[in-house]
Amino acid sequence: MSRLDSFISRMQSQRAVLNHIKDTSMVAADGVILEIGLGNGRTYDHIRELFPTNRIIAFDRAVGSHPHSTPPEADLVLGDIRETIRQFAGKDVAFAHADIGTAYPERDAQTLTWLPQSVAAALVSGGIAASGLPLDHSALEPLPLPAGAEPGRTYFYRKR
Ligand code: SAM
Repeated sequence: MSRLDSFISRMQSQRAVLNHIKDTSMVAADGVILEIGLGNGRTYDHIRELFPTNRIIAFDRAVGSHPHSTPPEADLVLGDIRETIRQFAGKDVAFAHADIGTAYPERDAQTLTWLPQSVAAALVSGGIAASGLPLDHSALEPLPLPAGAEPGRTYFYRKR
């Protein structure tokens, strides 16, 4: 599979999971959503469309998003997510979407030393996580992927 095919498959899988979370009403209308890895703001924009009543707090090292999909300043948390996400432990987050995989195994392995527990700590019981990297944590129950999402491209959990 070419890198282009791989990228398209990842994007389709990401969208399928996000749409499924919306279609099955997994996120309370007033629940806080974390967008972990704002990047260009594409998934932020999609999540904003799907969940118009929810506050979406986005994380990245610096703002690199398109002006049309840049969150208001009050909903932007800048810096190393490993550090900045700690303040959300116990905050009863309804949904966390993490998109900080790099396709460099050694970098992703480093991220996986802190991301699963950080997401688990932020979510309310019953809260939902979707991630491009696997979130292996005893508090996170893997959920079946919806049609259109390819295993290994995206991961999907509910907090026990
Ligand atoms: N979801 C975005 C979109 O649809 O446009 C793409 C996100 S991009 C793949 C990953 C982003 O996560 C990058 O902008 C990168 O700067 C950020 N990132 C990765 N690891 C990070 C860390 N430890 N702290 C802060 N930002 C990080």
